[in-house]
Amino acid sequence: MDISLSKIKGIGPARLKAFEAAGIHTVRELVMFLPREYRDLTRTVPLCELKPGDTAAVRVKVAGEVHERRARRLLITKLYVTDGTETLPVLWYNQPWLKKQMAPGRELLLYGKAEHKQGYVTLVSPAIESAEGLIPVYRNIAGIPPKALKSSVEAALKICEGQWPDELPESLRRRYGLCERNFAMRNAHFPLNREALEAARRRIAFEELLLYQIALRLFRSTGREGVRIDFDDAELEAFWSRLPFEPTNAQRRVLMEVAADLRSRKAMARMVQGDVGSGKTAIAFAAIALAHAGGWQSALMAPTEVLARQHYEAAQRILEPLGMKVGLLVGSLTPKQHRLAHEAIASGEWDVAIGTHALITEGVEYHRLGLVVTDEQHRFGVRQRTSLSEKGDAPNVLVMSATPIPRTLSLILYGDLDISIVNELPPGRTPVATRIVPEARREDMYDFLRREVAKGRQVYFVCPLVEESEAVEALPAEAVYEDLRTNKLPELRIELVHGRMKAADKDAALERFRTGEADVLVSTTVIEVGVNVPNATVMVIENAERFGLAQLHQLRGRVGRGTEESWCFLMAEPNTRLRFLRSTTDGFRIAEKDMELRGPGELFGTRQSGTLTAGIGALAGDTELLKLTHDEAKALMASPDDADARAVIALAQERFADKLRDVAVN
Ligand code: ADP
Ligand code: MG
Repeated sequence: MDISLSKIKGIGPARLKAFEAAGIHTVRELVMFLPREYRDLTRTVPLCELKPGDTAAVRVKVAGEVHERRARRLLITKLYVTDGTETLPVLWYNQPWLKKQMAPGRELLLYGKAEHKQGYVTLVSPAIESAEGLIPVYRNIAGIPPKALKSSVEAALKICEGQWPDELPESLRRRYGLCERNFAMRNAHFPLNREALEAARRRIAFEELLLYQIALRLFRSTGREGVRIDFDDAELEAFWSRLPFEPTNAQRRVLMEVAADLRSRKAMARMVQGDVGSGKTAIAFAAIALAHAGGWQSALMAPTEVLARQHYEAAQRILEPLGMKVGLLVGSLTPKQHRLAHEAIASGEWDVAIGTHALITEGVEYHRLGLVVTDEQHRFGVRQRTSLSEKGDAPNVLVMSATPIPRTLSLILYGDLDISIVNELPPGRTPVATRIVPEARREDMYDFLRREVAKGRQVYFVCPLVEESEAVEALPAEAVYEDLRTNKLPELRIELVHGRMKAADKDAALERFRTGEADVLVSTTVIEVGVNVPNATVMVIENAERFGLAQLHQLRGRVGRGTEESWCFLMAEPNTRLRFLRSTTDGFRIAEKDMELRGPGELFGTRQSGTLTAGIGALAGDTELLKLTHDEAKALMASPDDADARAVIALAQERFADKLRDVAVN
């Protein structure tokens, strides 16, 4: 199973490279590349029953001629299909080869989403399928067409047939009713039926989650003597009294937790979670001030240069008056500035070093590093930590994250971290009014936008990605942009940004929006609109039903940053999920709900990518499984000398130790 992929028919040097770039080198690794989801083609729906918002399989015939139309960079292929119960239009974007293939009368099995377009229920960019059943859908690998990927996986499965050793102890398998490993691998890719798929998912997810949690625990318990920082309680009050505002109760409570960690002999490994705007920066600065009072140096690391500079400016305002010397180290400094920064850090001239990854990757020598704060889940590994700590003890680590994660999931994803939650926003914010806008009310919404823009406000339009293929990534945004510019809001100044644009063009468009030269910004979600535009008061989210609740909540957080009343319009037919989002602005309740409704898979991501098997997101079945494996991991670790525990611990070490060494925060 550990043989090279080149043994598989159809994988030549170019594809081999593409697979390797995705981290897949062996036949085993390819079989471990599990589908992201499955298309349910076990049953087809009559066209007359298809409603906007439905995702379904239909069996149809091409009725009449195929039409092609161009709108700027967009090639639109349109045809009508029928199944005798109804005739409906189908659209594809930028697929020039389709026209030749679609003769009238051709039979098609289509799978896709029905949308409302110009008064008709329309299938938009459906996949053309060849057989019924549960069809695996894989994450895209650049350079490998989806069909080739599927057949490569099939070939890899054949090679491994019957060879997966069942490494989980028999007693565990029996207690939790887990199916055999070979059956699991086969059915995770090409399920016989729904029951077989469920059994396979459960088996694979159970094993992964259990081993992962054991590995986290192994790490946590290994020698973690930390820098002990002592300070006077009065320092806490002194810091708060210097701020231009009263801290919230949540900020006070979290800082107390942090202070206790700093004082303890154990190195702090704490994550602070809180919604955007909950005031995490003040907590980080307070911790830095405490470290300074105790005689220790701090480093604050941000994921981007823009964010690092923002923190640097704030630190100059807030920390320097407290007698601290703050410095900035980012990649774009001149060689001389780099040298000076390194010297200032090594000599202890800087009490606080703020920057990007440069803080740990450039072999910077610290003077007396006692605290490392990383912003926005910017995580780093044990090796890097070791490079940070002096010969002596490990520095304390504080991680700030704006992604609320339900408690159960936190236990698993961040089992090695203590967690503090900032569950309160500073007073005086106007909550964003959220509305669900069905197609029938679209024109009213445009009228509303015109009035807002006339008042001098600005508008975001966010469009989902098309998942099928990277080649069409930016299309929905482009289509929306064209439609707004030429039909819906021609009198407004509209900008477009998407992931495939040149960086310079993107920046220029963002800048025009930021400075108010544009009224509307259309974008996909891939590009992170890092601009903070308090004057933007409206967020329109197209195809809102395609987004997870947590993601919608994050998008909504981009408005409501000024003092004006702000709005979020969810373009979709009303449903329970969206109504829930309308009813609350509490990020944690939303994350809990998201997990309840869609399973924890969607929330996995940041940390697990590259650590857990690709596809575990889809596999991490349900909350119950998370709990089961969590409890079992705990039980096994409580008596590590049992035969079962020994076997599982050895497996966890083999499977995850190396990977975790690079991802775990300490
Ligand atoms: P985040 O948690 O998203 O990092 P920030 O720390 O950037 O949030 O804080 C957002 C804004 O709220 C900042 O302008 C900050 O000065 C302000 N702020 C933070 N705490 C308070 C508070 N207790 N009262 C009033 N304003 C606050
Ligand atoms: Mg922040």
